[in-house]
Amino acid sequence: MEPVVTLPDIEAARTRIEGHVIRTPLVPSPSLSAVTGADVRLKLDLLQPSGAFKLRGATNALLSLSPADRARGVTCCSTGNHGRAVAYAAGRLGIRAVICMSRLVPANKVRAIEALGAEARIVGRSQDEAAVEAGRLVAEEGMVMIPPFDHRDVVAGQGTCGLEIVEDWPEVDTVIVPLSGGGLIAGVAAAVKARRPAARIVGVSMDRGAAMQASLAAGHPVAVEEVASLADSLGGGIGLDNRITFAMCRALVDEVILVDEAAIARAMRHLYRAEQLVAEGGAAVGAAALLERSVTRPGGHIAVIVTGRGVDMDLFTRIASGEDVDPAAVSG
Ligand SMILES: *Cc1c(COP(=O)(O)O)cnc(C)c1O
Repeated sequence: MEPVVTLPDIEAARTRIEGHVIRTPLVPSPSLSAVTGADVRLKLDLLQPSGAFKLRGATNALLSLSPADRARGVTCCSTGNHGRAVAYAAGRLGIRAVICMSRLVPANKVRAIEALGAEARIVGRSQDEAAVEAGRLVAEEGMVMIPPFDHRDVVAGQGTCGLEIVEDWPEVDTVIVPLSGGGLIAGVAAAVKARRPAARIVGVSMDRGAAMQASLAAGHPVAVEEVASLADSLGGGIGLDNRITFAMCRALVDEVILVDEAAIARAMRHLYRAEQLVAEGGAAVGAAALLERSVTRPGGHIAVIVTGRGVDMDLFTRIASGEDVDPAAVSG
């Protein structure tokens, strides 16, 4: 097994990506502090220019490429926040990027990727077929695959978010992290626990199709059924051949909490009305866990990572105004 990502990797990533990503603010949340009786602060990674924290990992991965690999260009098959991050970072660094996606991806998402300067390669009728095309670009054209989470440079880049939290707030007791493939929480946990070993790291996923939670419970990576959710950016598996994030989560994550669709919608509304933040479903799950009072022994100093703002604004407006929205509408 490859060694896990450690603090020196994350410190090196921070130096590398400085000037390319935003050092986001950690701001007090009066409303969540009132609800919990603790000092709750929000780490606003939704302010990253690509719309989500994933810019940290993608930028670190791209800046770590050899000159020869840079010249070959990069690919991935995400149309969500990872795809946007790779497109944005590659555009800034002058690296060719081909983002593979299926014909089912809506035109506005395709245009958004192209507007960032990347090439959209439309193939097949499913994400799996798009993934096959990305694999072909690697095998036949020598492009470099940038995976969304299970990659050393990606995890180290995401870890810079945790490093900033513990530097801005050395007293932090609990860090609450939206959890999908585990790249963010693995890096954040490595950084925070290196500086403050007593801090608890809590992951939050939606209660349907929570791949990392199911894998931790099983003791090995397992596949889960993918179900539509307001937290669409938390969907997908962790990879049955997971090499890095599963082992790191098993070693470093203290608790995983699941929240349901109603709690996610309430948290999106809460962040909007009480904190004036537009957070996508996957970014609101930390606030949801606090509003549901689900976090065990959170301590007096709680940091919540608000991870992204990649949400359709018409959909957001309906959720914010209290409408019951069918989660199936999110991905469409
Ligand atoms: C990708 C993503 C996550 C989860 O990150 P992982 O590294 O896959 O665990 C959380 N929130 C948002 C907005 C994301 O895009």
